[in-house]
Amino acid sequence: MFREKRELRIPGPTPVPPQALRALSRPLMGHRTEEFSSILMRTTERLKRILGTKADVYTFASSGTGAMEAAVANTVSASDKVIVVVGGKFGERWSELCRAFGAEVEEIVVEPGKAVDPAAVEQALKAAPETRAVFITQNETSTGVEHDVESVARIVRDTDALLIVDAVSSLGAIEMRMDDWGVDIVAAGSQKALMLPPGLAVIGVSEKAWSVIEKCRSPRYYFDLIACRKNMDKETTPFTPAVSMFYALDQTTAMIEEEGLENVYRRHQDMRDMIRAAARATGLELFASDEVASRTITAIRGDSTFDVEKLRKRLATVYNIEVAGGQSELKGVIFRIGHMGYMDRIDMVSTWAAVELALNDLGRPIEIGAGVKAAMEVMSKCEF
Ligand SMILES: *Cc1c(COP(=O)(O)O)cnc(C)c1O
Repeated sequence: MFREKRELRIPGPTPVPPQALRALSRPLMGHRTEEFSSILMRTTERLKRILGTKADVYTFASSGTGAMEAAVANTVSASDKVIVVVGGKFGERWSELCRAFGAEVEEIVVEPGKAVDPAAVEQALKAAPETRAVFITQNETSTGVEHDVESVARIVRDTDALLIVDAVSSLGAIEMRMDDWGVDIVAAGSQKALMLPPGLAVIGVSEKAWSVIEKCRSPRYYFDLIACRKNMDKETTPFTPAVSMFYALDQTTAMIEEEGLENVYRRHQDMRDMIRAAARATGLELFASDEVASRTITAIRGDSTFDVEKLRKRLATVYNIEVAGGQSELKGVIFRIGHMGYMDRIDMVSTWAAVELALNDLGRPIEIGAGVKAAMEVMSKCEF
């Protein structure tokens, strides 16, 4: 077997397409040049289309959490009241970040595997009209659940509060329409559906957000959005950008434009439907219900017939397929199959074939091919 061959079915890093890998090996250029400015402006325009905004988009040389920190550092001042939707590890991250900046955090706790009821956000906002911002995770990677950002935005947009969304594991795979929906800040990262290595964070900022950012008293330096805006006016960045990552971003954003956003979204939805059909046909239990199931990652429960950690190990060592385990309380309880970024429907067939073989290797009684057949049946009805 080829040791270096890894099929990444984890929620980041995800496979990077060859044209992006080639771009990463290109000789470096100075970043205060017209040539780099044109790459910066072109990729920023494409990111705006992916975010569904005509407002502002910036990047940082950091992982996705850098964009999340920038969102908090620029909008939340000490003792501000914020509401955070917490349905898993990444919702918790928003709470931790807000507390680090001295905010008074009101959590709307959602049972793992469930999505938030927008009415709960409405109630929390009515009870605390002084709320500075509502934080939510578009795709809760730890449980494989999508929260309905559009419905929550409909509630928040009519208040003084900002709506701040973690779209790290959804941007470029699940629709985001910042302007139409009324989302104020979106944080994203490069190593998920944007098909790049880790190291570039993306942040979208609405007009409404600027009025809060300009008054925010929290200390910030590297992550200062006002510095980003001043520099973007001059077609540059405050600090040295990750030049090579921009070469690669130029490639992957062009790929997304060529495929077309609607087709990109449909591909992710189809991959989700294939994996869910396959899991069911194999007799496995899905962690999230159909209505809220993530289009980029599927969480599947283990049961008494097999050990999920042994399954993951077998998939990685024998079949070169990496899937994720559960985090915290869900460790050993679920395994998660990432289907985001540079992969296609047919890849789900081989992914599931490996899951079936690995289960069989572990001695779980299974009908080999039942899940693969179900996935193929879903695929045969896909339009692409
Ligand atoms: C991956 C991920 C992040 C960010 O993680 P980094 O390791 O900082 O890139 C944030 N939110 C969600 C929902 C994620 O899936």
